[in-house]
Amino acid sequence: MRGIVQGVGFRPFVYNLAQRLNLAGYVLNDSSGLIAEVEGAPAAIEGFLEALGSEHPPLAWIQDRVVTSLPPTGDGEFRIRPSVAETGKFALISPDIATCAACLADCTDPGNRRYGYAFTNCTNCGPRYTIIRDIPYDRPHTTMAGFTMCEECRAEYQNPAERRFHAQPNACPACGPALSAEPGGAGFSLPISPIAEAQRRLADGEILAIKGLGGFHLACDARNPGAVGRLRARKRRSDKPFAVMVGNLEAARELCVVDDDSARALSGPRHPIVILPRREDTALPDDIAPGNPTLGVMLPYTPLHHLLFRGAAFQALVMTSGNLSEEPIVVENHDARQRLGGVADWFLVHNRDIYMRADDSVVRMFEGEERVMRRSRGYVPETLDVGREVPELLACGGELKNVFCLTKGTHAILSQHMGDLENYETLVFFEETLANLKKLFRVDPRAVAYDLHPGYLSTKYALGLEGVEKIGVQHHHAHIASCMAENGLTGEVIGVAMDGTGYGVDGAIWGGEFLVAGYAGFTRRAHLRYVPLAGGDAAVREPWRSALGYPGAEERIAGVPEERVRAVRRMMATGTNTVMTSSCGRLFDAVAALVGLRHEANFEGQAAIELEAIVDPSCEERYEFDIAGEELDFRAMMERIVKERAAPSVVAARFHNTLAAAILEMCLRMRRESGIGRVCLSGGTFQNMRLLALAARALRASGFELFLHRKAPPNDGGIALGQAVIAAERMKILG
Ligand code: ZN
Ligand code: ZN
Ligand code: FE
Repeated sequence: MRGIVQGVGFRPFVYNLAQRLNLAGYVLNDSSGLIAEVEGAPAAIEGFLEALGSEHPPLAWIQDRVVTSLPPTGDGEFRIRPSVAETGKFALISPDIATCAACLADCTDPGNRRYGYAFTNCTNCGPRYTIIRDIPYDRPHTTMAGFTMCEECRAEYQNPAERRFHAQPNACPACGPALSAEPGGAGFSLPISPIAEAQRRLADGEILAIKGLGGFHLACDARNPGAVGRLRARKRRSDKPFAVMVGNLEAARELCVVDDDSARALSGPRHPIVILPRREDTALPDDIAPGNPTLGVMLPYTPLHHLLFRGAAFQALVMTSGNLSEEPIVVENHDARQRLGGVADWFLVHNRDIYMRADDSVVRMFEGEERVMRRSRGYVPETLDVGREVPELLACGGELKNVFCLTKGTHAILSQHMGDLENYETLVFFEETLANLKKLFRVDPRAVAYDLHPGYLSTKYALGLEGVEKIGVQHHHAHIASCMAENGLTGEVIGVAMDGTGYGVDGAIWGGEFLVAGYAGFTRRAHLRYVPLAGGDAAVREPWRSALGYPGAEERIAGVPEERVRAVRRMMATGTNTVMTSSCGRLFDAVAALVGLRHEANFEGQAAIELEAIVDPSCEERYEFDIAGEELDFRAMMERIVKERAAPSVVAARFHNTLAAAILEMCLRMRRESGIGRVCLSGGTFQNMRLLALAARALRASGFELFLHRKAPPNDGGIALGQAVIAAERMKILG
């Protein structure tokens, strides 16, 4: 069998099944999956094959299985045999799994030997990807190798009737990892339990660095405005929303609106951060997520988290990545002391090493389904099926929210979220993770796909590789191909890519694109009309610069010093440091600046998020727009916004309605010309749930077959998947 069949309790399941059916034989893990040989009565063997599919452990996933007949050996016993490694073969590795109910019961039962033990796990839950050094997945290949199991743990590990039979990270207070208060410290030295001490300090308003599953968190009491403010100031993170961890679903319901689908996402085996509508009457300080009507919430996913919340004086903790501004999340104890020493008042660490760093994943709910916005812990390294055999490739992804992708067989292997690939530390993380995934999946890429933007570090990395074919892929083509791939589409689609920035084949900055696209190529049928944008990166941080692409905007961007406006106008007139752009993200910036929302963005997309937040949902009006040739022209709309001075909430609503109407109109035209009725929506702008809902409703009402992202992010975290399938297609065509 191939699939996720290792590290999820499959061997004990097979063992027990064989016992039940009175079958002899063996089961083992090899490098590509799981092999079982059974001998016995034909009816029993039939029952065995049937039960494999219907009764397997909950976390297992059988991708395919091959059954062959062999002559009987006369063996009378069933055994679990040692794993065998074979070169070139690989087995799928399970992502890290949130603590299961049985383990939670163990570590909170005063009569259990794991009572209060922060590293309790079993074959159904616990660390996987973050501790695995190599395959096959056995303890010596994990960061648990240094811990020798005590008698009792070993007995559990060897007993097929136990939940911890062959649970590789199995441990207990007597033999396993331990908490300590100091990075590098050998154990806990205070007269009080480390968790009780952490609880006391958090309740007192201190900021703690807490070593978790995929890295460090910085934590503080989410209801303490002083603590939240200090954390923001020390972390130099001015406005970016903080995620919050609460003890259970009821506590989540006190902060946010949690429907059944969201509850399932929050409490499933992956335990991502779920972005939820925030209740207005919560006791949370505004500082948690300034100007944002949503809140990222997660539930405890390790025993350590559960224990932290038990009997604590706080109800909610800010749990933000333990890093400095945009560096990768810290995973090593000594590194934590060095890098987080200026942020945290106290450290809660442990001596189980994190081999692979993984941030918390982030999802949003749309139409009752989970949509991944940041794919990391709990998801990676689960593969996506691309539906056909593809050559072994590396796709390097983009710059912001970088994710890379490897391919092997029919699998697309997406890396965890790397962060913004703009500094040395992130590049090192990229290279380490790439080396690790190549090793775990035995991938030797023949070709490398990269974004056309010459300034991206990911592009430079790709072009610097030797001995591989290099395939450049246009940014928005990659967005659309990514959406096609995860929906299993072939042929051609209408691709609507609404995005921040992406390098165009004409050297302009694209980002409002209407493509007819397949994996092999694309035609750019239409795009937002180009407007000049001055100042490069500064334009992203200062939304008012985008507004200046439209006449009359000066008068409406009060608050920006006149001489700065004049300077930017001059740059645009002479073309100095000015690019032409069709970016939809910049159009959002321009409208946000015109209604006076903000003149400085402290993170990418901030102005657009705030514009979405203020929409008056009762307003169904919209502005006019023009389509001339391949240009979608919003000048008339911008002129009205400048002149009319309507309430910002009304302008925001009309603007969203206009954009959705324009997307529909353009798709109708493209369907008439091409006969294509399938539409893929992708690009970072479609993280805007209002625009997504409006566009989806309009397109479906006009009979389009609509395809959206679920597993791959619509933002630049998804483009590596698109690059990979495009590169695979080009290699096929070119032979
Ligand atoms: Zn468990
Ligand atoms: Zn033990
Ligand atoms: Fe993009």
